[in-house]
Amino acid sequence: MHTKTYQPDKPVAAWRSSDRMGDSVVPTLTIILRTRGCYLARSGNGCTMCGFIRDSATVPPKPADLIAQFRNAMTRRPDNRQFMVKIFTSGSFLDTGEVPPEVRSAILGELDCNSDVVKLVVETRPEFVTQEMIASCKQEFRKNFEIAIGVETSNDGIRLECINKGFLFNDFVRASEIAHRLDSGVKAYLLLKPPFLSEGVAIRDMVQSVRDVSKYAETVSINLCNVQKGTPLESLKKRGDYRPPWLWSAISVLRRTKEENPDLIITSDPVGAGSRHGPHNCGRCDRDAADAITRFSLTQDVGELSVECDCQELWQKIVELEDVSYGAPLLVS
Ligand code: SF4
Ligand SMILES: [Zn+2]
Repeated sequence: MHTKTYQPDKPVAAWRSSDRMGDSVVPTLTIILRTRGCYLARSGNGCTMCGFIRDSATVPPKPADLIAQFRNAMTRRPDNRQFMVKIFTSGSFLDTGEVPPEVRSAILGELDCNSDVVKLVVETRPEFVTQEMIASCKQEFRKNFEIAIGVETSNDGIRLECINKGFLFNDFVRASEIAHRLDSGVKAYLLLKPPFLSEGVAIRDMVQSVRDVSKYAETVSINLCNVQKGTPLESLKKRGDYRPPWLWSAISVLRRTKEENPDLIITSDPVGAGSRHGPHNCGRCDRDAADAITRFSLTQDVGELSVECDCQELWQKIVELEDVSYGAPLLVS
């Protein structure tokens, strides 16, 4: 369902921020290209929490439009300094149905020639990661190249049944092995609290997932599930059957996983924190909790995660009680 108007030669969004790269923090330009969108979402069989199709183009953009979108986004690059570029498409950058080969070549070539660009991250589903594809990307972009895959969880049951992702953990492993063989990095996106899980099960799923993906990815980013418009998740929330994760759950996951995997870069961008549709605590401590998560993501210092609020006790009770009462989730807003 498309309600917005858009210009085919302008990206959905492009913004500057900072990211962890190895032992340092570098400026980042994040670009969201408006392609025709994820093939699964287009077929009406997308993921339960994904509203990205609303950002995709109603008419498939021409190759020249996609290149113009990229160039337009690059005008927002950080000034006079080295930076990282992250490209998302609300689908898969490596799907030639979304990003034709000539567009991919043009983008990779321009980024390769730009001496300020130190690293490129592109998001894709694992089925588009082939030996030929990565070899071709590496030929055109000869610097630090990383693929980001929304594996969401290492649990196939949760990924297939709760998220409807349509691929297995083994598919992610295969893609990661190809990337590593061709000297490329791997970033795994995980999802804290997809629908149908209690708070405690969701926390344990993330701790186990980080353990499992740490063998196949250098960076892990934990997305805190938020409710997007027009999704099955939104219908569940309207019926009172879903509450986004507590920020305490995110803090607990980050603390536990970092302590278990000190060498792994573990980040989280608390998008929509504090709103009823996004991850939240009691309302009073949401800002502090979200800021702590952001600081931790840059510094990797668990000391940054020390936040206090009375609602932590309530959250703890919910985590304990939901496990014995599940089927009747405790939906404290
Ligand atoms: S989350 Fe990714 S794979 Fe799932 S429908 Fe959205 S764009 Fe497609
Ligand atoms: Zn609070």
